[in-house]
Amino acid sequence: MRWNRSLIPTLREDPADAEAISHKLMVRAGLVRQLAAGIYVYLPVGHRVLNKINRVIREEMNAIGGQEISMPVLQPAEIWQQSGRWDAIGGEMFRLKDRNQRDMVLGMTHEEVVAWIAAREIRSYRDLPQIWYQVQTKERDEARPRSGVLRTREFLMKDSYTLDPDAAALEVSYSAHKDAYCKIFDRCGIRYVVVDSDPGMMGGSGSHEFMAPSAAGEDDVALCAACGYAANVELARGVPVAASLPEAVAREVATPEARTIAEVAAQLKVDAACTVKSLVFMVGDMPVLALVRGDHNLHERKLARALRAEARPAHPDEVRKHLGVSVGSVGPVGVRGVSRIVADESLKSGAYVVGANRDGYHLAGVTVGKDFACEWADLQVALPGEGCPKCGKPLTVERVIEVGNIFKLGTQYSEPLGAMYLDEQGQQRPIVMGSYGIGPARIAAAAVEQRHDADGIVWPWAIAPFHVHLVPVAVKDAGQMAAATEIERLLTDAGFEVLMDDRDERAGVKFKDADLLGIPIRITVGNALAKEGVVEIRERRTRAERKVTREGVLEAVRKIGGELAMA
Ligand code: ATP
Ligand code: MG
Repeated sequence: MRWNRSLIPTLREDPADAEAISHKLMVRAGLVRQLAAGIYVYLPVGHRVLNKINRVIREEMNAIGGQEISMPVLQPAEIWQQSGRWDAIGGEMFRLKDRNQRDMVLGMTHEEVVAWIAAREIRSYRDLPQIWYQVQTKERDEARPRSGVLRTREFLMKDSYTLDPDAAALEVSYSAHKDAYCKIFDRCGIRYVVVDSDPGMMGGSGSHEFMAPSAAGEDDVALCAACGYAANVELARGVPVAASLPEAVAREVATPEARTIAEVAAQLKVDAACTVKSLVFMVGDMPVLALVRGDHNLHERKLARALRAEARPAHPDEVRKHLGVSVGSVGPVGVRGVSRIVADESLKSGAYVVGANRDGYHLAGVTVGKDFACEWADLQVALPGEGCPKCGKPLTVERVIEVGNIFKLGTQYSEPLGAMYLDEQGQQRPIVMGSYGIGPARIAAAAVEQRHDADGIVWPWAIAPFHVHLVPVAVKDAGQMAAATEIERLLTDAGFEVLMDDRDERAGVKFKDADLLGIPIRITVGNALAKEGVVEIRERRTRAERKVTREGVLEAVRKIGGELAMA
């Protein structure tokens, strides 16, 4: 491909609104443009990268017996009403009416459609198992679209679905997917960890997430280097470092003007770990009280799991209205107006300082579960340095981008949508489903996050938009252009993808763009051709340069390409 006939609008400056490195570089390298919040155009180079990723995904899906299908983005509301997600999902679902006032949905995922097909086309155990997949647009009205293509409102997803007769067969399909996912991410050249995760709105009995470490991520995972334990902090349970606690005799102590945990701990000269954070959340219009240790943070997903309902932090005026006290004074002993008190399990031992429900005072020496009744749950965000729940060694916590996930769904979609089959005894049974997603755009962005330098992107070989960036330095020099054209043909015939920068620009400008675009190999055809009969080959990643004769170019590219493909 020739630059002059392409749309590759590179920019010198970072876009003003961008924070994530992948966002800045993908815009600057001319891969994407934002049409509206969370809605992106993929320009030719960006589109090539996505296609490369999709090709890898398709190959690995086909290898485990996946059959590609295409399901509609526009869907009738009925199937979502049957599954219960029409009500369960809130503002994230795009809803609309057709001209006949029928409720419609823009698909954010396709479990319902899969179960609908299965209900009609799968009859007996002989039709199972099945693996169906698609690479299809998803629409989600994300609350916070951000970080460039990492979280958008319209995005491509590879989603696949397995249909099995029973749980044991689902295990087989699930583990085939897990292996295929590892191959996909390995081939795409990104670093990742596989972690236990919370199935969330998907429901079901088990799930894993594939997480690419990067500061631009929105998830945190707890990892144990000693035993390999790895879990999303939504699920991870660290063993807290025990707090050394004062005597367990409940008594009121004066804490004038102290509102925060830090202020209370300082006034009473105790460690923050000896205090309790009393947090008020609203479930609908009912307040509940959640308790975590003063030095811990509550994870809202864990709370939602414990309550079996979504909860949001109460506003200060709601606290005052329902509990009759100010936020800084709330405590569990004798508290009024809350429907439930849920305490984190780390509070099971010891005695603590808690709010006294009276401004200017706290209660010290309170034993949770004895001085007041509560439910126990895991509420706390796992912290670095806490003990691994499996082996006790210290955990680390890393920021990650979720690039894919896999769910054992079971029968929660097949039952309501009537996706049944007849088993060998002629008995009707619900089909056991699994669902599996990958975001190609997130793979691209994760690759940029993990592999870039001060000058631009450094694409992994397998997903680079081109293999070779060919730069004739002086396009008006007939000798250079003839040599470049010959190299272009030679490499293209050999199966390499070549971008030739045939612009009449200064060499410095072209080299800067080449670094920004991050194509793995750059070949420069310049003065050295006439003088020494050589061209220069440069590896983007190492910046290593070598001179080769025109005749040696193909072999050199094959060698470097081979090494990069293995790297
Ligand atoms: P997240 O927790 O980040 O919102 P999710 O759990 O909603 O992700 P799934 O519904 O399981 O994600 O979708 C499968 C895959 O699709 C994700 O692993 C991710 O790679 C991709 N994906 C999900 N939401 C988005 C989005 N808004 N923009 C781009 N890719 C996305
Ligand atoms: Mg989501």
